[in-house]
Amino acid sequence: TQSLVEVKNLKKYFPIRKGIFRKDKSFVRAVDGVSFTIQRGETLGIVGESGCGKSTTGRMVLNLIHPTEGEIWFDGKEISKLTEDQMRVMRKEMQMVFQDPYASLNPRMTVREIISEPLIVHKISEGKEREKRVCELLELVGLNSYHADRYAHEFSGGQRQRIGIARALAVNPKLIVADEPVSALDVSIQSQILNLMQDLQKEFKLTYLFIAHDLSVVEHISDRVGVMYLGRIVEIADKDQLYDNPYHPYTKALLSAVPIPNPRIKRERIILEGDIPSPSNPPTGCTFHTRCSKRMKICELNVPKLNEIKKGHSVACHLYR
Ligand code: SF4
Ligand code: MG
Repeated sequence: TQSLVEVKNLKKYFPIRKGIFRKDKSFVRAVDGVSFTIQRGETLGIVGESGCGKSTTGRMVLNLIHPTEGEIWFDGKEISKLTEDQMRVMRKEMQMVFQDPYASLNPRMTVREIISEPLIVHKISEGKEREKRVCELLELVGLNSYHADRYAHEFSGGQRQRIGIARALAVNPKLIVADEPVSALDVSIQSQILNLMQDLQKEFKLTYLFIAHDLSVVEHISDRVGVMYLGRIVEIADKDQLYDNPYHPYTKALLSAVPIPNPRIKRERIILEGDIPSPSNPPTGCTFHTRCSKRMKICELNVPKLNEIKKGHSVACHLYR
């Protein structure tokens, strides 16, 4: 069966002006050749440090920003080629949950208005039926109808994220792109929201693209995980494969910094050399070579391709060819 989402060689270069007298244009290579699929009902986690291009990738999947190059297929349609009108119809199939529920909810709107908005925009329901739907949505996310006439600022961070999720669910989407949905929340609240998202996924057969910098958060919710570095996926695998048996030196370094609950398992802490290079002037070859303790001559020259080295486990590194 067909995947719900397939992106092929997705690129996003943002132009930057160097100076009035410089004719050559420079680019920030925010996303530089990303390909993946998301199966119906699964959660693909994308993890990476800030600036790696994961948010830009998420926004391109929803066609909120247009790719410089590449294709985005959603439910069998190439959406980056759709007209505005065609896209408007597709919008209710795919929704976004944002990082900061404080910023993404209008403080002057009541919860009822916030959740009704997508129902009005997409002409889904009105009158009594809409009222009923709002209450139903509030209950689905663990709130109550008596919350409906209160304002977003009256709620805690976790409750606001529940409201954001209710708003995303209102239109019965197939796909939800969640960009750092719990990183503004306390750890105890994080797992409540992740569990809620998992329950809703089961109930409504939702597909998630879950973007975060926190490896434990991504591990909690994902079926498969892709690791991004400087606009590229350097490793992608089933969650357990990736966390138990990482291949790429960058993935190994990231994981070595995550505390393991079981003290009998010893993991050597790998310290990365230097900082993340600028995406406007990325290193040649393997862009990780400036920080990699395993680098070889070839690493500076050739870009390693993402190769499947085990079923469902792909790595972009010259160590594995
Ligand atoms: Fe390190 Fe070379 Fe592999 Fe890049 S390709 S991660 S530099 S060993
Ligand atoms: Mg981001």
